[in-house]
Amino acid sequence: MIKNIIAIILFFSVSLYCGEIEKYKNVNLKQLFDELNQRIEKVPEVKRLNESDLKNDPRYFLKLKDVDKKARTKLLELGFDIMEIKDGYITGLIPSDLIGNISEKEYSIIEKKSIYQWSSENKDFPAADSAYHNYKETYDVLKDIASNNSNMVSLFSIGKSYEGRDIWCLRINTTEKGTTPSKKPGALLVGNHHSREHLSNEMVLLFAVYLLENKNDTEIKKYIDNLDIYIIPMLNPDGVEYDIATGSYRYWRKNTNKFSGTKVIGTDLNRNYDFRWCKEGASTSQSADTYCGPNVFSEPESQRLRDFMSSNKNIKTALTYHSYASLVLYPWGGLDEQVSDEKDRNAFIKHAGEMAKILGYEAEQSSDLYVATGDMADWAYDKLKVFAWTIELEGNGFYPGSDIISKAFEKNKKAGLYLLSITDNPYK
Ligand SMILES: [Zn+2]
Repeated sequence: MIKNIIAIILFFSVSLYCGEIEKYKNVNLKQLFDELNQRIEKVPEVKRLNESDLKNDPRYFLKLKDVDKKARTKLLELGFDIMEIKDGYITGLIPSDLIGNISEKEYSIIEKKSIYQWSSENKDFPAADSAYHNYKETYDVLKDIASNNSNMVSLFSIGKSYEGRDIWCLRINTTEKGTTPSKKPGALLVGNHHSREHLSNEMVLLFAVYLLENKNDTEIKKYIDNLDIYIIPMLNPDGVEYDIATGSYRYWRKNTNKFSGTKVIGTDLNRNYDFRWCKEGASTSQSADTYCGPNVFSEPESQRLRDFMSSNKNIKTALTYHSYASLVLYPWGGLDEQVSDEKDRNAFIKHAGEMAKILGYEAEQSSDLYVATGDMADWAYDKLKVFAWTIELEGNGFYPGSDIISKAFEKNKKAGLYLLSITDNPYK
């Protein structure tokens, strides 16, 4: 008995000494989903710890009568962050200092509310935010699956975010580890360019867990043996943590870069890439959610992804995840025109269609709804000839609750496998 007690005391002392008790050991999908369900049941009510934070948020929610694509593109440039385009109307957010940009002559405003008022009435407030993985929990899962599959998995940082967080990349490759180059064709999945799109982190993270849990499945084994698979679930960790820091969501989209001489923070990372930077569909106003940054690649996070992809020229295909519109998009997003190379264009269209079919989403050229310049997929194709698709996940808001995670993943894991199936030759 005394021996047992001593053993227990020793165990906890060692655990404390080591910093913390490991959260995950041999994590698997079932465990993660069970945990999600338990968390959902345990969340008794909407948590709103620091309402003053949203009360002081200078942004407004606007509902406008729908306009054509050119006028939508202009809205983005005026600093209006489009959230939804529905039959007959558009919704989005705009900071108070830019609201004068929306002239009543050009746009008819159906509804105008402070973000605080709008979110109070909005059903998609954080009823179950704890079900999603935050930065630390995401890292814990990655660490666990890496250490349990060390023969084929390595985990490394592609560099630091603005606030100094490591941007983690999990690599699945049976022959090369860490940042050693590989000759195998590479595929990249990346989530959370935009902070509030938490479902994107889940899809990418769960895909890594899924692949490794099923590593002996014939099809998956083939991909693992023959490909170089890179998984970056959370490109914008500062923004994600900022979005959830108060216990009530902030509807935060950008990173948290603090510019001198102003109180407003953040750049839209998906307007910061070097493809027609800060032209159509991007705002030069720092307060705008579509702010393109002071220069091209001004942001640590977009620089990290640029450097990572540029130094891994074997990467052939990529999926970049956003939410929420149930779409599979292909370049160009920053140009009205189609991709000029016929073979490439056909490959983009064909595979977008196939993935959309698997997902039950729609496939379209990214600029079909509005033009938006400086995004990752355009840059990756233009500069590196990577076939990059944007998946706009499903849901009815940025915070669609937790039960959507497993449902969305059931479909998205198949779209992920589809991407792997074409990575050796995207022209097939
Ligand atoms: Zn997004």
